[in-house]
Amino acid sequence: MKIIGKDLSLKSSMLFTIFFFILGIISLTLMLTLEQISVALKTILVLILVSSIIISLLCLITVFTSASEPITKKELIIMYLRPSKYYPKKQNIECMICKLEIDKHKMIYTCPYCNSLYHKDHFQQWLNIDTSCPVCNQDFYKYALKTYKKTKN
Ligand SMILES: [Zn+2]
Ligand SMILES: [Zn+2]
Repeated sequence: MKIIGKDLSLKSSMLFTIFFFILGIISLTLMLTLEQISVALKTILVLILVSSIIISLLCLITVFTSASEPITKKELIIMYLRPSKYYPKKQNIECMICKLEIDKHKMIYTCPYCNSLYHKDHFQQWLNIDTSCPVCNQDFYKYALKTYKKTKN
């Protein structure tokens, strides 16, 4: 299921494209307007021009590829639920997917609704089957989408 474009990478690549495009234009105009410039300066300007053309082209390619490659529900959830390190408080808690105790300092995901904990790998595997919490049944995708919209505005 493909939903939305990769907004963040898209924005930065676009900015890079514009930046290097402008840099290229500046060096080109400098080359054309300044008639009596030294060979060294000319070489530098040519180098800047060529590299900015290459970089802006590369950025443009990134813009197009990321625009045509929307992210999936799973990717969106993984992006916004973010795993954290497990620091047990009083007693150890079990992963609600495999039902085994979670060792301390393991990477875990936490349900934003019921605070159930999951091993990072088990959580990501679970997302292949279902996008809702196996304990409280709330949809992780809804949470991720809400967070995504918040960061967008
Ligand atoms: Zn587990
Ligand atoms: Zn839950």
